[in-house]
Amino acid sequence: RIVVVGSVNADLSARVDALPRPGATVLARSFDVGQGGKGANQAIAAARAGGTVAFVGAVGSDAFAPMLRDALAGAGVDTRELRTERGPSGVAIVTVDSAGENSIVVAAGANSTVTTLTDSDLDLIAAADVLVCQFEIPLPAVTAAARHAARHGTEVIVNPSPVQRLPDDLAAVVDVLVVNEGEERTLREDLGAVPHVVTTLGRSGARARSADGTETRVPAPEVTAVDTTGAGDAFTGAFGVRWAELAGDRDRMQGALEFGCAAGALATTRRGADSAPTRAEIEAM
Ligand code: ADP
Repeated sequence: RIVVVGSVNADLSARVDALPRPGATVLARSFDVGQGGKGANQAIAAARAGGTVAFVGAVGSDAFAPMLRDALAGAGVDTRELRTERGPSGVAIVTVDSAGENSIVVAAGANSTVTTLTDSDLDLIAAADVLVCQFEIPLPAVTAAARHAARHGTEVIVNPSPVQRLPDDLAAVVDVLVVNEGEERTLREDLGAVPHVVTTLGRSGARARSADGTETRVPAPEVTAVDTTGAGDAFTGAFGVRWAELAGDRDRMQGALEFGCAAGALATTRRGADSAPTRAEIEAM
């Protein structure tokens, strides 16, 4: 059982020939509205990867809210603790040019209201095997969730993105930190205190360094990548599921890294953020 406490956004994506300069208007070649937000992406990835997943977060009272709620519920994620707050949902306004260069505006919207946890949120966390958090909601809520998890024997996986230094009281209760190479560089000083640091290495797969001195490396399966958006979230969601399943196993880290890398690689073979593979696809790979 996995609980994700995190963000959910509507991703508004326009493809253009060239990004607009200040003051300019350009016509889009295509436009798409989809579900995004690292919290929701990782929850959906974990559910597709075979986990029993609940999501704690908030949508707004706007037209995007039902679409976001349906995206989570449609993937089999328990949305009973997904709140509806008056005001806008979180949105990411993405413009991509013909060379794949992008510019992105994120408005946190309802995600910024996730500052405290209810008793039922805390009960879900206490009953779970693993808590998964990112940094797209206010850090005090992440810290409160993680500390509650630690008190109840729920393992804590944190993907500190967008990257920020970890507050000491959060760092003290993290079991696994999942970072990419840029985040690893930024957080170098925080990593010493964490039992397991998993670093995703793009096409090179992933590596884990554990406090007992062991290092585990897994190559990425070879695939034809068409869009790496969502690969990190697919990795983290799938990693979390397998990490929970392999509790007590001697080859736990190896198994969870392989599972995460297969999911991440498969996600790069599909366009968009909504690209997480199913359990059957991960196992086949
Ligand atoms: P992020 O997108 O968060 O920076 P990475 O680029 O490290 O994260 O990708 C996350 C995971 O997705 C990698 O660990 C790997 O398993 C998979 N992945 C990403 N790019 C590729 C690729 N070109 N080929 C195969 N797997 C990939």
